[in-house]
Amino acid sequence: MKICEFYKGDIPVLSLEIFPPKRDYPLETVFQTIEELLSLNPKFISVTYGAGGSSRGRTVEIASRIKKDYGIESLAHLTCVSHTRREVKEILEQLVREGIDNILALRGDPPEDDPHFDFSKQEYHYAYELIRDAKKVYDFGIAAAAYPEGHRECKRLSEDLKYLKQKVDEGVDFLITQMFFDNRFYYDFVDKAVAMGINCPIIPGIMPVLNPRQVRRMIYLSGGASIPSKLLDLVEKYGHKPEEMEKAGIDYASEQISDLLDEKVKGVHLYTMNKSRQIERIVKNVGLA
Ligand code: FAD
Repeated sequence: MKICEFYKGDIPVLSLEIFPPKRDYPLETVFQTIEELLSLNPKFISVTYGAGGSSRGRTVEIASRIKKDYGIESLAHLTCVSHTRREVKEILEQLVREGIDNILALRGDPPEDDPHFDFSKQEYHYAYELIRDAKKVYDFGIAAAAYPEGHRECKRLSEDLKYLKQKVDEGVDFLITQMFFDNRFYYDFVDKAVAMGINCPIIPGIMPVLNPRQVRRMIYLSGGASIPSKLLDLVEKYGHKPEEMEKAGIDYASEQISDLLDEKVKGVHLYTMNKSRQIERIVKNVGLA
């Protein structure tokens, strides 16, 4: 089933993102996390794709088992930039064989260990090319990424929005945003996107801050999400008290989500970081379970 159908209803859709365990960890650990998350009744679970295809087999296997073993829709992330067109075709065909109906089509980042990575030498340069190729031959439901504060490589939000529109026009059914910690960025972004004619659902992606070490990494991964002073104060106050920090982070994310629900968002996508216990508390706090 195509995930975009879920967003046609009136009830906000809960979805969760998980990542495959690193290669030297057993795959089964992630299924334990998924089983713990099942009681929250997520409508779908998305599975990230390791940069450069490092988790390729695992992403497909996990996404496939989410559907087959638990009967939940899955959204397989796929990044194209380090792949050839032939490799992408093989992966898309594998996804079809595994019965996966939905992909999150991404360009991906340059490899962290290759400062001289040259995008111009790749067969794929932007996500819209992957969306075009996937759409041409296959019948996937297609999601893409959106950046409420602008993508890190783009000088202006208006330019980023122009390219976002290009992606959507290639056949995107819904968008999931990068994490943000101040909902005003999201609301302004949605207004601007709608004004440009982007009419598909734009689902907010929420990442709880559960420990202070995570903050720096999160800012890096998100491409520079702004940290509001309220959140910085919490990190300063509880930075050396792990339990209090975790509680404050859960409360902060819960407040962010409650506000989004008050504003009648169509759904909330939670970056779980494979932390089922904390995610369960957030989802129960906001009444989304
Ligand atoms: P694009 O949409 O191609 O945009 C990349 C940049 O190019 C932007 O600055 C854009 O403005 C610009 N651009 C786009 N089109 C054009 C054009 N035609 N001409 C000129 N410039 C253009 N990464 C992973 O490795 N694995 C994951 O599983 C993963 N999951 C993610 C999930 C979500 C919800 C999000 C928000 C991000 C995720 N990422 C993941 C990170 C993502 O791969 C990076 O942010 C990457 O740098 C951009 O990917 P994109 O698909 O948004 O790229």
